[in-house]
Amino acid sequence: MSATNLKLELPQLTPEAEHLRQEVRAFLAEERTSGRLPPAEKIGLGFDRDMTRRIAARGWIGLTWPKQYGGKERSALERYVMNEELLAAAVPVGAHWVADRQSGPVLLKFGTEEQKQFFLPKIAAGDLTFCIGMSEPESGSDLASLKTRAEKVPGGWRVNGRKIWTTNAHRAHYIIVLARTSTVEGSRHAGISQIIIDVTTPGVTISPVWSMAGEHDFNEVLFEDVFVPDDGLVGQEGNGWNQVSAELAYERSGPERWLSSFRLIAELIDVLGPDTRTATLEELGRLTSHLLSLRQLSLSVASMIQQGKSPNVEASIVKDLGTKFEQETVRVVRNIISSEDLVSDGKAERLQKLLYHALTYAPAFTIRGGTNEILRGIIAKGIGLR
Ligand SMILES: Cc1cc2nc3c(=O)[nH]c(=O)nc-3n(C[C@H](O)[C@H](O)[C@H](O)COP(=O)(O)OP(=O)(O)OC[C@H]3O[C@@H](n4cnc5c(N)ncnc54)[C@H](O)[C@@H]3O)c2cc1C
Repeated sequence: MSATNLKLELPQLTPEAEHLRQEVRAFLAEERTSGRLPPAEKIGLGFDRDMTRRIAARGWIGLTWPKQYGGKERSALERYVMNEELLAAAVPVGAHWVADRQSGPVLLKFGTEEQKQFFLPKIAAGDLTFCIGMSEPESGSDLASLKTRAEKVPGGWRVNGRKIWTTNAHRAHYIIVLARTSTVEGSRHAGISQIIIDVTTPGVTISPVWSMAGEHDFNEVLFEDVFVPDDGLVGQEGNGWNQVSAELAYERSGPERWLSSFRLIAELIDVLGPDTRTATLEELGRLTSHLLSLRQLSLSVASMIQQGKSPNVEASIVKDLGTKFEQETVRVVRNIISSEDLVSDGKAERLQKLLYHALTYAPAFTIRGGTNEILRGIIAKGIGLR
């Protein structure tokens, strides 16, 4: 690929997608009226199993999957629109997010028929939470250097190793672990496999890692002689690297990569008084136009995924620009708050709380799902600069 080959076309959202947007908005209005969706006081994906089940009851988990596995066979762009609405409204979707975005699609693409039949309908019903076991204490960006091993034993695999930063492992039912299953001379990427492990299996120990915001979302997960039956292997033995690469394109380009701090903008606009300074309005205008262009970019990638392409470079561009924007939003909103008279009716206090949380949370935006330095390496390689 060269820079001139990077072609992003803005898709037209179909009437079905726009209709779904209205359905989601009506659902959110109902949730708010009933008190089940209080205003957010935190940045990031909240975790609420009941909310996940209510979303599942609408048929919105596994929306694009085949009906035979509990899906609705809707388009990737419809799924995009639905998620955009849920994220912009700060709906706590953490209980199904990973399974819906990544684990389910990986099983759909690489899993056996038995795996698909077993896992996908349960994910679509909102009953299963998955987590991602890739990073290790010494292997984050350089994932291929991972040390977790799965050794072949009669009837299955014996897994030993340590994963870290595993979001929601303590709340999940399953973890998809990336482990070395064989050594291939001359290739670090070959010989790595993906294995599904029930987190309650003997030998799995989950310990909390507390975040800077004082929260328990991350974990360290230790595997000591964990036996996993043969049917836990996902896809082909040794092909895990290729499978994970496909997975990362789903992970890097969605609305969650530019909407994380959107509530700050929305809530700020709500509390600005009649004498708002021109400089503030200009800053907000700049943020909003940036937001809209990121949305176009991200939608274009969603459209490529819809067409069956693997837009890894394009997805990396969205994540690099989107996460920088998310961090910039926090800075801009903090500056504006300190220089404006805000309408004081409880909303301003909530915005302060949200901002405080965002300040401690924002550094993660450019690290999770692959750091921006790594993404820029992928982009440089993709356009032939490296
Ligand atoms: C909020 C959050 C949630 C996460 N959830 C999960 C999860 O659920 N499951 C999971 O497996 N992991 C998860 N992670 C881990 C995440 O994927 C890693 O933190 C990330 O890949 C970076 O790895 P590292 O922390 O080991 O940093 P390192 O790889 O040690 O990098 C340290 C610094 O060096 C830079 N660097 C490293 N190599 C290069 C290079 N070749 N060129 C230029 N710069 C380089 C990096 O950009 C970074 O700035 C999560 C992280 C965060 C912040």
